Amino acid sequence: MANTYKPFAPLVERIKKDGVCLDGGILKVDSFVNHQIDPTLLQSMSIEFVRRFANKEINKILTIEASGIAPAIMVGFLLNVPVVFAKKKKPSTMGDMLVTEVFSFTKNKSYSVCCSKDFLHQGDKVLFIDDFLANGNAAKGIIDLVKQAGAELAGMGFIIEKSFQHGGDFLRNSGFQVESLAIIDSLDNCQIKFKGE
Ligand code: 5GP
Repeated sequence: MANTYKPFAPLVERIKKDGVCLDGGILKVDSFVNHQIDPTLLQSMSIEFVRRFANKEINKILTIEASGIAPAIMVGFLLNVPVVFAKKKKPSTMGDMLVTEVFSFTKNKSYSVCCSKDFLHQGDKVLFIDDFLANGNAAKGIIDLVKQAGAELAGMGFIIEKSFQHGGDFLRNSGFQVESLAIIDSLDNCQIKFKGE
């Protein structure tokens, strides 16, 4: 499904003001998303996600710890549905669970991601929310977990998508509704180039 991209202006402005470009195509947004969190911006972004997925039936929000948890909670709060975060380490207390492998772009290694079968079931209509979409590896892991559970992925929402890493192409070409609030086409020469500007 092809979506038309609509930048969420308050986020784009904030990235211009406070985003820091690092070598290797990484954008640091530690002052408002990944370390310190701006709750007012988070609330407005979550309202925007709810608006963009208003066409979908959703009974659960799914994310991966840790950075996706804050936006996922806010969206879950607005939709009044539970929020589940897939865990990067198997807790000793977790019984029957679904497991998948995810390659981390920022850490350059693979890790297991797991989710208890108690919290992801057949028939669930899941919205995946995360901070960044880069190569799409975390998203592919989520697709696998949802498939293993026999649940349905209603859509995927990302705060920031880096289009030059092409995860978004893969997900959209696979037929998912993908909504990114800001899309960055290039971080070459440490210049942040936004899609559509
Ligand atoms: P992907 O799995 O799509 O390749 O990468 C997505 C994950 O990697 C996100 O959940 C995020 O934690 C991390 N990530 C990817 N690119 C960036 C980036 O430029 N900045 C930050 N802060 N995290 C990133």
